[in-house]
Amino acid sequence: MELVYYPHEILRQTTQPVDSISSELKDFLKEMVQIMDKNRGVGLAAPQVGNSQRFFVAKLQNEEPLFFINPEVLYTSLEKNIYEEGCLSLPGVWAEVKRPAAITIQALNLKGKVFRLEADGFLARVIQHELDHLNGILFFDHLSEKKRELLLEAYQKVRPSK
Ligand code: ZN
Repeated sequence: MELVYYPHEILRQTTQPVDSISSELKDFLKEMVQIMDKNRGVGLAAPQVGNSQRFFVAKLQNEEPLFFINPEVLYTSLEKNIYEEGCLSLPGVWAEVKRPAAITIQALNLKGKVFRLEADGFLARVIQHELDHLNGILFFDHLSEKKRELLLEAYQKVRPSK
């Protein structure tokens, strides 16, 4: 398993729902956690490792990883906030992005059980960033055209060669 980098086309594709939580899928998700940890990420979505299905992992510092399979958004707050975001698919660049401050999400966990999570703060931010990946959206899509151009220019100078 390897990270894929922007502008890899899979990062722009919409993902397909998972139809069964097989042992292969569980192993895949666990391997994603390892890759995320190794690269000091806090979230990683399937397209970022070349898989076009609807799942992602997230892990805050010193906490257990969370697995989100076939996630659905139930609620997003009207209140928004700004956080600096980066992305393992665009290493070396960051930008401040405005998003809803809180979110409620429903998904299947690794055991195939439905769970609901109300998140705010940094976790809400991570979840929204990863959800975007499942719809082919990247964090710089939320920036103004000017800021996006500057970010992509900077990325061209530091992007991984492969
Ligand atoms: Zn990302």
